[in-house]
Amino acid sequence: MREFVEFFADGDSEVGAPPGWPELAVAALRPLGPKVIKPWPIPDPPPLQLCFEFDYYPEGLETIQAQLRRQGLSVDYWVRCEHTAAEVRQAELLVTGPGRVLTSVEDTLRWKDVTVCRYCGTRTAHWQFESLQIVEPPQGAELANVDHWPLVCSAELAQALREAQVTGLALVPVGLDWPVQWYGLLTTHELPPLATSPSRLVPNPVRTPQCVANHLWDAKTLLAYRRQELGAADFNHTYEYFGGVETAVRLLVISQRVYRLFGEVGFKRRNGYPVEVVD
Ligand SMILES: [Zn+2]
Repeated sequence: MREFVEFFADGDSEVGAPPGWPELAVAALRPLGPKVIKPWPIPDPPPLQLCFEFDYYPEGLETIQAQLRRQGLSVDYWVRCEHTAAEVRQAELLVTGPGRVLTSVEDTLRWKDVTVCRYCGTRTAHWQFESLQIVEPPQGAELANVDHWPLVCSAELAQALREAQVTGLALVPVGLDWPVQWYGLLTTHELPPLATSPSRLVPNPVRTPQCVANHLWDAKTLLAYRRQELGAADFNHTYEYFGGVETAVRLLVISQRVYRLFGEVGFKRRNGYPVEVVD
């Protein structure tokens, strides 16, 4: 696995970046060995933003981010993990997501807000699949999402999953029409809390001291679990919720068996990012 980092420093912070902020950012980040430093806009000084590209994850990056924030800069970074085809094939578990994005018929995508945390107000959506109507028919075996939100599974893929007797999965018919074309995909098995280094997990900025640690904004790396705690099913969701306060979501984690099955039944846009399992 290789990690690539893009670190952005921005002169347009809420508190107002100090004069000479680009020099501060460069002095802090150059010793970490960025491959490229790109000012934007180019070439007109002064830059509004600097981007530092790394072809590895520099140790202590979170400390430097915190230091620059204290100095009044607006800073954030992205981490992209790249895996070889062999690493994907060998992974026990993979995070997966939809292929294409489908469209709902107007006013048919409905949900109930469910409170995840009463202290900070983090909520998640419980989708009402029975009222949903989807414009596009399935294209064979596929997973897709509707208006970028709920995950649905085509009838053909649902049939293959049933025949394979996969665990941890519940399928809910979409709409009331017969035959069913799409099923809402729900997971019934929850993974234990992540064993990923806490420095790589970004807490939700709304978190209060009373909040439990299950709502996060982002993970700046791949997910990791301890083997003895794992006990995974074929379909799982993370204990943690990710993303915003109003629509926090759990990630879908599948077994290698399911990932392979996706390939065998011709799900062309299947995707999978390995999860690390540590002893
Ligand atoms: Zn909370």
